Amino acid sequence: MRKVAIYGKGGIGKSTTTQNTVAGLSEMGKKVMVVGCDPKADSTRLLLGGLAQRSVLDTLRSDGEDVELEDVRSAGFADTMCVESGGPEPGVGCAGRGIITSINLLEQLGAYDESENLDYVFYDVLGDVVCGGFAMPIREGKAKEVYIVASGEMMAMYAANNICKGIRKFADSGGVRLGGIICNSRNVDNEYELIEHFAKRLGTQMIYFVPRDNNVQRAEIKRKTVIEWDPACGQADHYRNLANAIDGNDMFVVPAPIHTDELEGLLLEHGVLG
Ligand code: ADP
Ligand code: MG
Repeated sequence: MRKVAIYGKGGIGKSTTTQNTVAGLSEMGKKVMVVGCDPKADSTRLLLGGLAQRSVLDTLRSDGEDVELEDVRSAGFADTMCVESGGPEPGVGCAGRGIITSINLLEQLGAYDESENLDYVFYDVLGDVVCGGFAMPIREGKAKEVYIVASGEMMAMYAANNICKGIRKFADSGGVRLGGIICNSRNVDNEYELIEHFAKRLGTQMIYFVPRDNNVQRAEIKRKTVIEWDPACGQADHYRNLANAIDGNDMFVVPAPIHTDELEGLLLEHGVLG
């Protein structure tokens, strides 16, 4: 079973990209579980056709310890397994702890057992890894393989660079490696070259360039992945290509984060000033 974590700045497209990629992998016949690690609990909305899954933390709060796998895990599009870890009540407690509680519970309940025949588990993790709780999947070796969603916007790259610092920190203890940067385009000038260059500097690769496309919004309003909503459209193929690239990936590195000055230099070099 490959254990994958998707990181990136808030709003960059982690949940959208994760679910569409997972839909692509499922179409290929892979058995995949998605574990949402964002207090928003919206990591599986497109696979489930709505915010249908009660989060692990909500379930624990209302049902106590007497929880079964079926209470916290639902089947989504193409037999994907969907879990939302959820978050603490607003203003109370650390959201990162919820992730630890959830993964431990899933382990206890046998969600990762061989009999489940999982090919992949994907953790869709909020924000960057500066807060210890959100680093948990890579710190504890729950995820071995990270993909960072980024775009050519400076703050997305800044967050990606920070995430690389986190990966580097836990590379020895947790065994985590970076599998690549997924460029989720924001139509920045020269974005393809910029992110390819950025990835190279970090010692990794741009594993795929996902174009910005309004079909993502059209599918989203119907609570579906693009692959389910319009399997014949070009964007669906892009997500299939990304799924293929991840499935065939053999480049796993300990990244070398760069200095902020160098990051700014890259943006200037690739014509952010036109
Ligand atoms: P995150 O999980 O990183 O916070 P989301 O996946 O929720 O981000 O994405 C934020 C918004 O960006 C979504 O509402 C989605 O419609 C939009 N989006 C993501 N990827 C694309 C894309 N390739 N083209 C168009 N819109 C996109
Ligand atoms: Mg999200």
